[in-house]
This record gives sequence, structure tokens and C-alpha cells, in this order.
Amino acid sequence: MKDLNGRYALVTGGSRGIGRAICLELAARGAAVAVNYAGNAAAAEETVEACKALGVDAFALQADVADAAACEAMVKETIARFGRLDILVNNAGITRDGLMLTMKEADWDAVLDTNLKGAFHCMKAAYRPMMKQKYGRIVNLSSIVGLRGNAGQANYAASKAGLIGLTKSLAKELAARNVTVNAVAPGFIDTDMTAALPEKAREAMLSTIPMGRLGQAEDVARAVAFFAGEGAGYVTGQVLCVDGGMAV
Ligand code: NAP
Repeated sequence: MKDLNGRYALVTGGSRGIGRAICLELAARGAAVAVNYAGNAAAAEETVEACKALGVDAFALQADVADAAACEAMVKETIARFGRLDILVNNAGITRDGLMLTMKEADWDAVLDTNLKGAFHCMKAAYRPMMKQKYGRIVNLSSIVGLRGNAGQANYAASKAGLIGLTKSLAKELAARNVTVNAVAPGFIDTDMTAALPEKAREAMLSTIPMGRLGQAEDVARAVAFFAGEGAGYVTGQVLCVDGGMAV
């Protein structure tokens, strides 16, 4: 399906995991893709080459989403290269897990600055161009942890719950300009982020998934592509769980 032919996308954290799968799904549907990364240039270039192999334009862009000026420059560069920006996917995210009793303020700040403020910076930079072109599709990567909470992830849960409020508010601000803002809330997805979990925690998590398996990055990417596509033009401010039934 080439429903994104002629569309131009920017995916934050596109070098690995879910972000990489999103870049490939958008590219497979015909969108040109700007692949943002934080430090892993080799992985970002690999994603770029994989997108190009699908027949679309793509390039890599280093920027720390926690840095407002870097996000503004990144959006400007994307528009300079592509001529416009139709799809923004705020996917970059980190964890710094631990019980709040011992959680360092720096761990709180790092997670909030990357996961929540990072999306704020990118959306703020894309706001005017999308408003002016009267077209935009913004998709934010939340988490079922943002809906349900999780012991040991107070910072992460707060950032992902915050993203939902941010998504709904911006959806209302931009609706009249034909810019939709939605969120995808993945459950437990097989990526570097979850590979870092101890085996016991993985097993405990698995037992809470009705479908009995971890999700794949591609499962999440297809949901993002739905919100990014023409078929979702009248859908805004929504949160779609992609979690094998975990949050039901
Ligand atoms: P991942 O495998 O750890 O990949 C993280 C990606 O984010 C990498 O591309 C990384 O770039 C980038 N990144 C990290 N900090 C950044 C920063 N400050 N600026 C720009 N890019 C940055 O993560 P994932 O599992 O694919 O998760 C992707 C998103 O889905 C995150 O928002 C995560 O919270 C959310 N999510 C994941 C799960 C899950 O089970 N995996 C569940 C729910 C929600 P580099 O390669 O350069 O380091």
C-alpha cells in the first residue's frame, strides 16, 4: 500500500527499535523519511539505507530531542531538504528505572526532558509549518505504563502520561488546521529497551500479556502508520494501545 506517496516524515529515535520499524513502515508506504538519532550514527545510516532500498528519499539527522535549539534546527533542516513536513513521529525515549525512594533527581530530569519535553520541542518547531500548510500528522509514542503506572518507573510513567495530556491538548489546538495529533501506547515490545530488563522481570511481564508473547516493533509501526495515513484524517486526540491485550 503506497498511501503515503508524496508525504515527508521526521521520526525521532529512528536509528533503532520501534523508531527504525516506523521509518521502514512509512517508507514502504511511500513517505520520504528524516531519521533522527542521538548518538548511534551507524545505526541511523543503516535505517536510511534500508528506507532508500524501499525507493524513497531518506537522510539521517543527529539531534538530542531534549535540546530545544537542536529540535528547531532539525525541523528546519528537514523542511529545507524535503520542502515540507507532513508527518512528525515523536518516538525518541529512554528509561532510568528505580524505586522513587532512591531515584536521583537527575534520573527524573533525564527521562522527563527526553520523553516529554523532547516531544514538546519537536511539536513546537513543527507547529507553525504544519499550521500554515493546513496539513499535518503528529504521532507520539506513549506507553501503557503512562495509562496504568508501574512500580519502579515513576519518572517514565509520568513522562508517558504527560505525553497523553500533551497529545490531547495539541489535538484540540490544531484540529481546525487539519493537523491531527494522536498517541500510540505500546505494551511490552521486543527492543534494546526491554532486552535490558532482568530475566525474572521479563518473565513476570510476559505472564501479564493475554496474547502470551512480546510485541514486535513492526506491530507498533503499523499503528503509527495508520495515524499517519489518509485513512485517519478524521481521527485526533486518540490513544491506541498496541499491547497484546495487556491493558484491557
Ligand atoms: P530503544 O530501542 O532504546 O531506542 C531508542 C531510540 O531513541 C534510539 O533510536 C535512540 O537513538 C533514540 N534516542 C534516545 N534518546 C534520544 C535523545 N535524547 N534524542 C534523540 N534520540 C534519542 O527504544 P524502543 O524500545 O524502540 O522505544 C521507542 C519508543 O517507544 C520510546 O519512546 C519508548 O518509551 C516507547 N515504548 C517502548 C516500549 C517497549 O516495550 N520497547 C513500550 C512502550 C513504549 P540512538 O540509537 O542514537 O541511541
